[in-house]
Formats: sequence, C-alpha cells, structure tokens
Amino acid sequence: MRYLSTRGGAERPGFCDILLEGLAPDGGLYLPEHYPKLDASALEDLKITYTTRGYAALAFEILRLYIDDIPLPDLKSICDKTYTQAVFGTPEITPLRACGEGVYLQALSNGPTLAFKDMAMQLLGNLFEYELTRRGEELNILGATSGDTGSAAEYAMRGKKGIRVFMTSPNGRMSAFQQAQMFSLTDENIFNIAIDGVFDDCQDIVKAVSGDLVFKKRLKIGTVNSINWARLLAQVVYYFAGFFQAQKLASIGLASHQSPRVSFAVPSGNFGNVCAGHVARMMGLPIAHLVVATNENDVLDEFFKTGVYRVRNSASTFETSSPSMDISKASNFERFVFDLLGRDGVQTKALFEEGVARHGFFDLSGQASFTTQLAHFGFVSGKSTHQDRLKTIAQTYQTQGQLIDPHTADGLKVGREHSLAGDVMVVLETALPIKFSATILEAVGQVPPRPPGFEGIELLPKHVIVMPADAQKVKDLMVQNCNL
Ligand SMILES: *Cc1c(COP(=O)(O)O)cnc(C)c1O
Repeated sequence: MRYLSTRGGAERPGFCDILLEGLAPDGGLYLPEHYPKLDASALEDLKITYTTRGYAALAFEILRLYIDDIPLPDLKSICDKTYTQAVFGTPEITPLRACGEGVYLQALSNGPTLAFKDMAMQLLGNLFEYELTRRGEELNILGATSGDTGSAAEYAMRGKKGIRVFMTSPNGRMSAFQQAQMFSLTDENIFNIAIDGVFDDCQDIVKAVSGDLVFKKRLKIGTVNSINWARLLAQVVYYFAGFFQAQKLASIGLASHQSPRVSFAVPSGNFGNVCAGHVARMMGLPIAHLVVATNENDVLDEFFKTGVYRVRNSASTFETSSPSMDISKASNFERFVFDLLGRDGVQTKALFEEGVARHGFFDLSGQASFTTQLAHFGFVSGKSTHQDRLKTIAQTYQTQGQLIDPHTADGLKVGREHSLAGDVMVVLETALPIKFSATILEAVGQVPPRPPGFEGIELLPKHVIVMPADAQKVKDLMVQNCNL
C-alpha cells in the first residue's frame, strides 16, 4: 500500500516512511491510495477471526491490508504484544455493554491511562520501537499536553528502546489525577516538563523548538500527534469489533433473522476517532450512521449542519467539562473533506490553504451535491452542553446504574437524538469517569470509584522538572539528556 497526501503532492511513500513523520511535505495529511474493500464473505471471516481468535488477530487482519513493508510474522507479534487482556483489562479489549433500549456503550477506555487514546498509542509505541530498531535510529518525542494525550504517549513509550519522551504541560493546571498519572512514572526515557504558563505556552514552545530545523534534525525530534496515520488505522479496528459484538448482542431475542442496523456515536474533537469510523465504513463495514457529537466547541456540528467549516480563535474556544473535545479546529478533518470532494487534492488544498489558513473558513453549502454526499458518507451530527452532560450522567446513573464520563455523555446525548427505533446505537466510551471526578460529583453528588491499581497515586513521588515558558531552556534539557 502506498500513501498519498490530501493536498495532491506527488510522493507515494509506504507505511513505515510515514509512520515516523507528521504532515506530508505539501502540508497535507496522508491517506492510503485506496481503501481495501471487504465483501460480505470477507466481513464474515473477520467476524469469525474476532470471535474465535480475539482482538489482536482482528487487528492483524485489518492492519496487514494497509502495511506491506513489515514482514507479516513481525506485524502479527506487534499486534499480539499490544492488545492483551493484561493491558486492556478484558479478553474482548473493547467490550460492549447495554445502556438502555437499543443503546450500547463500547469501552475504549480500559487501557493504562483510562482513556481511548491508549487504543492507538499502545500500538504506536510498539511500531515505533520496531521500526527504529530496524533502522538503528533514535527518536525524541516532544509534545505538549493538557491531559489525555500526554499520558497516553508516556505510557505507550515508557521503557521503549531508542525513544525518549519530553512532555510539556501547564504547571498546576492538570487535575491531580492526571498529574499523578504522568509524574509518577519512573522510567528513564520519560521527561515531564511543567511549564509556568498555560497550554498555549506549551504548544508555542513545541513549535519554537521543532521550528528550529537544524536542532530538530540534530536531536531527531518527532511527535505523536493525532494526525499520525498509524494512530488512525489502529482505531479502525475497534469499529469492526464493536459492530460484530453489537450484531451478536442485538440479534439475540429477535424473531426474524434480519440483523438490526448499527450506528456509532462518537464524542469528537480533532475528528481522529470518527474518521477511523469513516475508514471502516469505506472498507465496506455496513455502518448505518456515524454520529459526530461535539460539546460547546461545535466547529464540526456546524459543518455537518450547514456546510460551513469555520475554525475558531482561542478567545472563542471554550473551556468545558469535556475538555478533551475543546478544539478550535479539527486537525483530522481534512482527510474526510478530501474523500467528500471525490479525492480532489487541488480543491482540498485550496479549501485549507486559501479558505481556512487565510480566511478562517470555507463553505461547501453552495455545492449542489453537499447534502446527498453527506448522506452517502453516513454522517450526522449534534451538540451537547454542560447542562446536557450533567443531565445525561445523572439519568444514566439513575436508570442504568452506570457512571459515565462527560465525553461519553456527550456521545450518548447526541447518539440518542439520532437513534432509530429497532436499530442499534453504539456509543464510544472515550474515558472513565474517575478522570473527571469534579463533573461527576456535580452531576450525581458523589465521586466515581477508582479502578484497582489507581488508589493513592496522588501520593507517589513526582518526577517533573518545572521551567519558565522558555524554549531555550527546553532545548538545553533535551541536549543534556540525549545521546548525541
Ligand atoms: C481525544 C479525546 C476525544 C476526542 O477524540 P478525537 O479523535 O480528537 O475526535 C474524546 N474524548 C476523550 C476522552 C478524548 O481523550
């Protein structure tokens, strides 16, 4: 499989070449040249693979369609090593549970950091280690986090050969639980850097350091951001696992042998998660609808309702109680737009370079086919607010006896609005409630239980270096700790 850029550039790298890269040279995002198509019998084979041989085997069968520059036995052992019950808590890896009439929650948040980013990041850690060892190279990952991404990256890369992680975060601004998750790590290749400032200061430092191209090359600096194709590909797998489980659970008790239709509701921010659902659907998985759920930061809901994609500035980006969805622009969205436009790289480039970068928006509502195209791709959307989250969390607790996190609550609220009688809605559970106790307390008057192994983590010694918001200081720290 070769990969192309959404902005029409001429290069056609293979999987391992784009694995360690970010954007394509022309500023676009990488996508496979085509989506492998699965017919009914291929889907049936995958279903049997999942039910008899498990999630890792399913992951291998899907990944091999997109990766032809890693020998198959190696790819298989990478999948086997990644998706284990020991790391993800259950044999199904992403189990479904019922949550009211026709609704299931798919747990993507039972990994080491209790949020769905582990699903992809754990695979990325093993792929990076494999490829760097093969090339005899090293990589220094520099990132900025306000919570979930940083800890998922650290837990995926800890102890990995040839990799160091330098993770900046705003000093004192993450929850005590999130700080404890990251700062309690004792691995020598993990460097927590608390910056005296806000998240934007951290991002500015990352930009300044990686913008120094000589330094970037000398220190072999890379990232693990959400536009990485391998992360997206890893996420495609759980749509298959969720779909197969939903079919099985929902068919039980039905008089007819006809399976109900299955849709997915996805709490969305950077559009990585739901874009993986789009890829699964393009491959032939018969997903009825992909329901994009946003919080008050409704860039995506606005687009799917009006055809206008209007990015926000930081003053108009709200801090909400589902913080991992607080985005001003959706960094993976360009991938979907490219497909929506019939894979026209020239037009995609114009929309993002002229429209978004220069004017802050583009408008597809004038295109006659816009509405039919959206329907063709199965997308619908909706929005959820702080009050909606509180209400959904409280209701789910009262009626189902289940505590759900605020992001999942956004997905559930919007998913319900798009549920069709007789059909199944799978809502992706993207984090566990313990990560967002303050909101849970506000909604139901009590704090969520702690999963085993997380008791008292706030009391562990903290491994963190506090620094002023000064890119040079971060560079100095990196130089001191890298083998040059
Ligand atoms: C990252 C994240 C999201 C948003 O996912 P995208 O892929 O950015 O759309 C939703 N919920 C949680 C808990 C997250 O960590």
